Amino acid sequence: MAQILNGKIMQNESIDRLKKEVLGFTVKPTLAIIQVGDLQESSKYIQHKKIFAEKIGANVEHLKFNIDVSKEELVEKIHELNKDDKIHGIILQLPIPKNLNEHEIIDAIDSSKDVDGLTSTNFKLLATGSSFGFMGATTKGVLDLLDYYKVSLAGQHVLIIGRSILVGKPTALALLNRDATVTIAHSKTVNLKELARVCDILIVALGQPRFINEEYVRPGQVVVDIGINFEASNSKSDSSDEIQKQTLVGDVDFEKVKDIVGAITPVPNGIGPMTVASLFENLITAYKNDKKIL
Ligand code: NDP
Repeated sequence: MAQILNGKIMQNESIDRLKKEVLGFTVKPTLAIIQVGDLQESSKYIQHKKIFAEKIGANVEHLKFNIDVSKEELVEKIHELNKDDKIHGIILQLPIPKNLNEHEIIDAIDSSKDVDGLTSTNFKLLATGSSFGFMGATTKGVLDLLDYYKVSLAGQHVLIIGRSILVGKPTALALLNRDATVTIAHSKTVNLKELARVCDILIVALGQPRFINEEYVRPGQVVVDIGINFEASNSKSDSSDEIQKQTLVGDVDFEKVKDIVGAITPVPNGIGPMTVASLFENLITAYKNDKKIL
């Protein structure tokens, strides 16, 4: 059985550490979350963020907009938040409706408050290997978890499946900055199974439940499953009524690969909790930068 790279353990350590730091602050660090529409999954993620904030003593200001909000209204609100010294971090909960240009809206966020690390400024800092700026929360979560479990990165061949601007690309850049040899795969990649089997570290962010099975892995590999998918399953309640349950599964078929590979992140309790923790680590950094706390 593979070593389990448990993100929940690290998240709990992060809560303890951040809680102690926040106790010493004069003002509560505050994260503004902008949500457009009412997507059930987004609301669930926001709920997780609120719970984490409460645990460490930070605030979340949840700003909800109707699905028909214009880009101009969102940008105007972001400009207001940029100027508001009670707000230390701003995130746009993705996805947003396709008719809105998410890059333009994200780029309205002041880079010093961009705790999701998605503005062009922070992306460029990552691309140039600068240690300034904010790294995306998921990317930071992946790196922190690998560091915690002492997985060496320098010289290792990493395959990342997925090239999104939110996950795949920033994670590739961050690993390149750590001297890994990085290959990025996507839906047009040929020989994916062969590529996957030769790498040392396989990072999967493609958004398809249990896609990676025993044919994609080999003994000794480290597998990082970033995928979050909800599968509907029917079960009987006490009164024998059929109830629909949502099961959280990753992009990796955990049961099929866990006895082959060397180490693996589970879903749940892998990268998901790390992403939330990293977001608040970034928020605390933004707060300290603002207050000039070293
Ligand atoms: P996107 O849909 O934006 O990107 C998916 C990527 O996977 C694309 O690059 C796509 O290729 C590639 N892809 C899709 N199908 C295949 C395939 N059959 N073979 C190879 N590549 C394929 O998704 P995100 O990057 O936003 O998210 C990916 C997953 O990570 C999702 O499950 C999401 O829920 C999860 N996620 C988890 C987070 C966490 O905190 N744990 C945070 C954010 C996301 P192409 O570019 O060619 O279309």
